[in-house]
Amino acid sequence: MYFNKENNFFHGIMFHHFHDGKVHTKGQGSISKDDFYKIINFIGIKNILNADIFYEKFLNNKLKDNEVCLTFDDGIKCQIDVALPVLEDLKIKSFFFVYTSLFDGKPDNLEIFRYFRMNYFSNVNKFYDEFYMTLDKDLDLFFEKNKDNIISKKIKFPHYTIEDIKFRLVRDEYLNHEDYEDVMFIMINKQKFNYKDYYNKLFFNKNDLKKLDNYGHLIGLHSHSHPTLLENLNYNDQKNEYKKCLFTISKILNKPQNEINFMSHPCGSYNIDTLKILEELGIKLGFKQVMTIEPEKGMKKINNSSLEIARQDHADIFKLISK
Ligand SMILES: [Zn+2]
Repeated sequence: MYFNKENNFFHGIMFHHFHDGKVHTKGQGSISKDDFYKIINFIGIKNILNADIFYEKFLNNKLKDNEVCLTFDDGIKCQIDVALPVLEDLKIKSFFFVYTSLFDGKPDNLEIFRYFRMNYFSNVNKFYDEFYMTLDKDLDLFFEKNKDNIISKKIKFPHYTIEDIKFRLVRDEYLNHEDYEDVMFIMINKQKFNYKDYYNKLFFNKNDLKKLDNYGHLIGLHSHSHPTLLENLNYNDQKNEYKKCLFTISKILNKPQNEINFMSHPCGSYNIDTLKILEELGIKLGFKQVMTIEPEKGMKKINNSSLEIARQDHADIFKLISK
């Protein structure tokens, strides 16, 4: 049974990566076409609403506790190549949340880094070792200081290992973004990985977005440049992120901006400013990344507001199935 005490309220199911043993190699948190069918069956197809129905019921306060929708973040091509045929087979219309700098030929390096990590190292810990070696800093004190932080992150993101969490802390908090990218590109150049050759294999193009829209899936906002911690940006920078995103999607789909009313928070990062900006842009439904209350964000309940609807990571569901 999928529904239990922890998730017995309407929410989104969050998907990112899929593998097919061809272009899209198996990696951390990725699932195959068969795994995807299994997850859908485990949730129960009758509990999964089409995105437009979910949205309609949401607006009218009609969603039942056992009703969920499927959501796909980041505009990554494996979703088109692996997940879309399954969605079409089962006739499930879903939400796709895309950041839009990728349509300007400036995709988030995160995806490039992921591909590099998955294909140039035999396992993720080998990558972490090489990363720390290249960085060449003593991190003991930093990890010691973050001891409690690491434990609370493990509770919040149970599908991450402690090593994953430590790496993310170094990436997002110990280093600034530029320094982190510098280290990564040193490693990439050392291995002679020509990442630009992979853009069209890894990311959506404009036609992919149009195709999804034509099939009846709903396209929503996910910022313009996908900052790792959007909540650290000031009001104007945040506003530009979402304005640009909305503008670009509306232009590609040839749809008025006021027909695009959904979004998901990149990396689950937002603050009060973000919610205000989204409201001003006419966004009526926003998804976050976790199934828990985040008191530091002023949240009093799960599904705290229309722009803070919970989502469960597919990896957590997959673990339930494998139990
Ligand atoms: Zn994202």
